[in-house]
Amino acid sequence: MTQNSSINSFTPPTTIGFVGLGNMGYAMANRLAEAGYTVTVADLNQDAVKQFCAESGATAADSLQALGAQSDLVITMLPEGNAVRKVLLGEGDNVVSGLKDGAVLIDMSSCSPVDTRVLGEELLAQGFVMIDAPVSGGKYKAADGQLAIMAGGDLEIVERCRPVFEILGKLFHTGGPASGHAMKAMNNFLSAGTLALTAEAVITGSKFGLDPEVMVNIINASTGRSNSSEDKFPKFVLPKTFNSGFYLGLMAKDLRFAVDLAESENTPNGFINLLSGLYDKAEKDLGFEADNTELFNYLESLVESEE
Ligand code: NAD
Repeated sequence: MTQNSSINSFTPPTTIGFVGLGNMGYAMANRLAEAGYTVTVADLNQDAVKQFCAESGATAADSLQALGAQSDLVITMLPEGNAVRKVLLGEGDNVVSGLKDGAVLIDMSSCSPVDTRVLGEELLAQGFVMIDAPVSGGKYKAADGQLAIMAGGDLEIVERCRPVFEILGKLFHTGGPASGHAMKAMNNFLSAGTLALTAEAVITGSKFGLDPEVMVNIINASTGRSNSSEDKFPKFVLPKTFNSGFYLGLMAKDLRFAVDLAESENTPNGFINLLSGLYDKAEKDLGFEADNTELFNYLESLVESEE
């Protein structure tokens, strides 16, 4: 029983419109289709749409307006806020122009909390509520329904959406509108930070003669451990697979949101600015679609170029 079990909740076969079938969205939409929801999808990448519909039995939307009209709930899982704004309210075809009264919008992308506040108010002025519900966990946890979901906005509406969220992971209500996006920006600041710190430690120790694998094992039994040392290093960095499924450019974008948030709240931002600058440089060097764990290679290349 949930706290608000009297609320009419979105259970199957509720119709869900899902926009954004990338690394994360594909796996998430697939879980919803498997759970019995009626899913209609859209993405700029038509190959992803075709493959998804063939695999899951979902329907491809004829347009964003049609997707809005067919859905009780519309989920966006897009790179960032400009794409979300374009899909929901953009000129020409958009979701909101088709939306039914009472339909709910959930943005699960990681976006700037400052921009999300503005977008949420614009949508509310048109009679629609948007919950910001970004996630942490990556594509493997998305496929297993093990994401951490940080939902900001009206608690009653978040509770109505609980059955949908629980198919995707563990739900946390973070507070008012845009608080989910603020939480996600701060989490990714920490996540990017431990990756960069662990990389510097391993590169420095290895140059002195320590074995990287031995180092990571010892870090993981010591106080320097983190998700980066426990998960990313053993799976993606040490074996050099670099296939975590999270683009470096997306992490660099999340850090820019952390910079914006610290600026808008006038809080200490030394580490945030430093880290954001580092990821921006790495993105310029390695490209947007490099895996975020390739930050290790970027830092290693700096050592070599100084020799
Ligand atoms: P992705 O780049 O793999 O997928 C984004 C998808 O959106 C693509 O299929 C693209 O074609 C589509 N798209 C872009 N603009 C569009 C538009 N205007 N209309 C329709 N479709 C459009 O990204 P991802 O890794 O799936 O990440 C999605 C969001 O989730 C991002 O905000 C990211 O920061 C966040 N996130 C990613 C991870 C991860 O591990 N990959 C983890 C947590 C959160």
